[in-house]
Amino acid sequence: MSKVTFLSGENIPLEMHKVRMVQKVNLLPVEERLQSMREAGFNTFLLKNRDVFMDMLTDSGVNAMSQNQYAAMMQADDSYAGSETYYRLEAVLQDIFGMKHFLPAHQGRACEHIIAKTLVTPGSVALMNYHFTTTKAHITLTGGSLEELIGDEGFKINSDEPFKGDIDIGKLNEAIKRHGKDKISFVRIEAGTNLIGGQPVSMANMREVSRICRSGGIKLVYDASLLSDNLYFIKTRDPGYQDADIKSIVREIASLMDIVYFSARKLGSARGGGILVSDDELFLKMRELVPLYEGFLTYGGMSVREMEALSVGLQETMDIDVISQTPIIVEALCNELLAKGVPVVTPPGGLGCHVDAMQFCSHIPQDQYPAGALAAAIFIASGVRCMERGTMSEQRNEDGSERMAEMELARLAVPRRVFTLSQVKYTADRIAWLYQNRRLIGGLEFTEEPKVLRFFFGRLQPIGGWAEQLAEQFRKDFGDSL
Ligand SMILES: *Cc1c(COP(=O)(O)O)cnc(C)c1O
Repeated sequence: MSKVTFLSGENIPLEMHKVRMVQKVNLLPVEERLQSMREAGFNTFLLKNRDVFMDMLTDSGVNAMSQNQYAAMMQADDSYAGSETYYRLEAVLQDIFGMKHFLPAHQGRACEHIIAKTLVTPGSVALMNYHFTTTKAHITLTGGSLEELIGDEGFKINSDEPFKGDIDIGKLNEAIKRHGKDKISFVRIEAGTNLIGGQPVSMANMREVSRICRSGGIKLVYDASLLSDNLYFIKTRDPGYQDADIKSIVREIASLMDIVYFSARKLGSARGGGILVSDDELFLKMRELVPLYEGFLTYGGMSVREMEALSVGLQETMDIDVISQTPIIVEALCNELLAKGVPVVTPPGGLGCHVDAMQFCSHIPQDQYPAGALAAAIFIASGVRCMERGTMSEQRNEDGSERMAEMELARLAVPRRVFTLSQVKYTADRIAWLYQNRRLIGGLEFTEEPKVLRFFFGRLQPIGGWAEQLAEQFRKDFGDSL
């Protein structure tokens, strides 16, 4: 827990900013929430934002920007080739990460596309702490496969382990031996493991993985999309880094990696993305693909205004009072929910609060998507939109059978510096009501199921009439209230 950002004695997160531009939001009556959920095929991705009270779907591209980011957007240098804006961004990245080359891309998955095309060959295996949806899709589309080496603690909903995102070193050594280093396309470490609760990776673990990769001649790739939360946790949970400044932590991480890539929709609170690499040969290989898929080398699919916002956002990420804001709100939301008996992933991670749908909806079989059903139910009960991170987010096996996720989570993302504590308390209250009435929630089945990334566009229907019954119970308990 950071001593600078919590009020002493009480668990009240302290916002280290003031809100100077606002957007009005709507809270629809429960009947209309049910109707818009129906129209969205019980998939929170397909809801219209105008029907949403609090959008906790994701932190992607929806973080609040600072006044300095907006100001920087005004002085962007518009040019197809060689814009000053690009060179400013390149210099900021080189300074923060201490790596030689930067390649711009339009967002995180575009970096994954380029990296997969460069390093993945058919039949190769990528080893990683845990996959992210788009990472896995790009690796498998290129003919590779992947293997996850997260420590056993990472799958435990409740744990005292401060760095649940760590790679299990024993599993890593064993996998390298089993596959042989020539079959391994790369090892990947994802900061703040997205799909298993936003859990951080420790510096000691990164150091050890790097040592093993370097001695085996295996490339080490770092997904820095959720770096800012991970930095906060290294600073606050690792006794060796309490006095370290943020930039020196970033430098140390980058020095252990061959490739660093990020989604600037998360890191730097802007939009866009990019790849950092020091090796000249690897740089030249990846560089060929940027104009082909992204755009010319000095913008890579980003607008110059976004690049300016990103340069400033990255520099602001070096400030503990900025990067603390999501983790302390996540912790507050987790604590509110725990106090009401609702099962959530602990210790609280970054990115968002993760409700354990396996416990919450223990009566729903896993092939009826308990986390998807819970996400739909949370919207009906509260107007809060969250995201399924469970079996629906998985790809089916080659033979068409379901690949059951290790965890079934409803993720309430906390975009950086967007929501207030009273909104967080409201969310916890409504979810606590839902928990009391959890038996009313039933399963879901697909009515339309896309082959790739089905959770984005797939449409589902409730099994039985549970959604109507849930809305009716809400009306009984809440009277006229929204
Ligand atoms: C969001 C995310 C990505 C993909 O980034 P986009 O900008 O959404 O394409 C990759 N890795 C992680 C860990 C992410 O959170």
